[in-house]
Amino acid sequence: MKLEHIGIAVKSLQESIPVFEKIFKVKATQIEYVEEQKVNVAKLHLENIDIELLEGTDVDSPITKFIEKRGEGIHHCSFESENITEKLKELKNNDIKLINEEPKIGSDNMLIAFLHPKSTAGVLIELSQKRTKE
Ligand code: ZN
Repeated sequence: MKLEHIGIAVKSLQESIPVFEKIFKVKATQIEYVEEQKVNVAKLHLENIDIELLEGTDVDSPITKFIEKRGEGIHHCSFESENITEKLKELKNNDIKLINEEPKIGSDNMLIAFLHPKSTAGVLIELSQKRTKE
């Protein structure tokens, strides 16, 4: 599996985007709102990986809660799967705890699902799959 992106929880996209743009010398994508997670997302496409900046838009957004508990920082690592539904079934059958048993819609027209960090040494792992255009 390929590491697709790293998700970073930030308090403010407005403040963080220019910092990351300065470091990587690329322009961030337009901010996208993901209803499902109550987050605003901006991505920076680097050579072999994307950086995903995440800002909670609501007190009960998982990103807002994460920042409250642990401060800003790396939120998750996302690995690309060719068949996320099959992969989730396989992991479940192998006793890996899942947060999402079914894929959900994430940013960038991707299907995503999170594994439970209790199964993965405290690291939040996301599986992602590019959606084919219907
Ligand atoms: Zn992600």
